[in-house]
Amino acid sequence: MNTVRLRPHSVLATVFALAAAALAQQEPAPPSPKSPAGPAPVAAKEPRRTPAEAKKFVESLGVELIRVDQARTLDTEWGPLELAAGKARALDRYQVLLAEELQALGKPLLQKLELKKVYVCGGMKLAGVTRGATPHASARAMYYDATWGQWSLLYQRRCVHHELFHYLDERDDGKVYQDPAFAALNAKDFTYGKGGAAAQGDDKASLPTAAVPGFLTPYARAGVEEDKAEVFSFLMIDPGYVAARAAAEPVLQQKVDFVRKLVRDHCPEFGPDAWPKAAPTAEPKADPAPGPAPVAPRAKRR
Ligand SMILES: [Zn+2]
Repeated sequence: MNTVRLRPHSVLATVFALAAAALAQQEPAPPSPKSPAGPAPVAAKEPRRTPAEAKKFVESLGVELIRVDQARTLDTEWGPLELAAGKARALDRYQVLLAEELQALGKPLLQKLELKKVYVCGGMKLAGVTRGATPHASARAMYYDATWGQWSLLYQRRCVHHELFHYLDERDDGKVYQDPAFAALNAKDFTYGKGGAAAQGDDKASLPTAAVPGFLTPYARAGVEEDKAEVFSFLMIDPGYVAARAAAEPVLQQKVDFVRKLVRDHCPEFGPDAWPKAAPTAEPKADPAPGPAPVAPRAKRR
């Protein structure tokens, strides 16, 4: 995830860049199609706009949607960001999905985030490391790989929010990797992993499980920044699952309250009514794609 108002060339910037590069390698792979399904996911939303309508809608939110149909490389404070060209069909599909998720966030929050550009591409490497997405707050931009986890619409939708939370978290106070107040919600003897190292290589790390109370996924235990991003993304995509878990897990409820407050502090308009409502009667319909159900965050971020 992120990073934070870095001063290029400063020692601090170098330290953060190294940390970013390290984390970039720790974001877990999305669950493979062979992973067992996790707890019942909420039914995937079906795209309703045409790609052209989706692009127009995103831009009505004040966000330029940039389709990467020719490879390009951008400079970032962490090194070169190589964006691979996406195939038209994949880009079309993703931009429709993206429009729906940005709509769920709403214009007030997007404006507070000052998110100006979203690139949709066919793959990316940041400083040579493959990623599924990259939040880039200093450039007011997000980059998404339209093919990352494409066998699960739910996973892809949750990725949109997981990554955007990292962007928000960076803009919040610039401290992405430290949040003592949030970390203190955990049991005293709990220690987060090193940014995802423990989950790296585990394609089930992003699947929800109640195996460890207080954590929505194994990946949430990788780092405080990932724990918060997981809570946020599940609140946006599967609030019913979060509500059911939180009702029995006080620590998780406290994390939910913390994340909700953090977002509201950033955008007062994002109050209780702005969050997607739990849908207790939602049918756990299968994903359009044959894979595991739910999702996870994905990718990258530093
Ligand atoms: Zn993350």
